[in-house]
Amino acid sequence: MARRTRTRFWDPSGRRYGIPTYPRKKIPAHLRTLRQLAAEGLRPGDQGPQAQVLWCSRVPGPPRVRAAYVYDVRLALPKRTPGQRIRATAPKGRTCPECLTEAIDRRLGVCPDCAEEAAA
Ligand SMILES: [Zn+2]
Repeated sequence: MARRTRTRFWDPSGRRYGIPTYPRKKIPAHLRTLRQLAAEGLRPGDQGPQAQVLWCSRVPGPPRVRAAYVYDVRLALPKRTPGQRIRATAPKGRTCPECLTEAIDRRLGVCPDCAEEAAA
């Protein structure tokens, strides 16, 4: 019984679960949850989940299996700053790339304030 519990979530090849699967205490060192990546100032980048971690919830009630995706820290990228995030999601051609306002002058490529500042 104890043995079955220990190996239940052990599936590095993903044959049983369709994705490589580890119990919480046997996660390879290079894999991180989103929260762990964020704590290190990282985001997954272009990679999808590399594996999943399964464990039994300890919340009272019927036993529930919980899952978390994990990502390869070696493929992770630095977290974006708030400014980078705005630039990445802002509609192109409308937002001033310097100060991130929406009052861009299309001929100048930036807003009038930034153009004036650049000229000064
Ligand atoms: Zn501007």
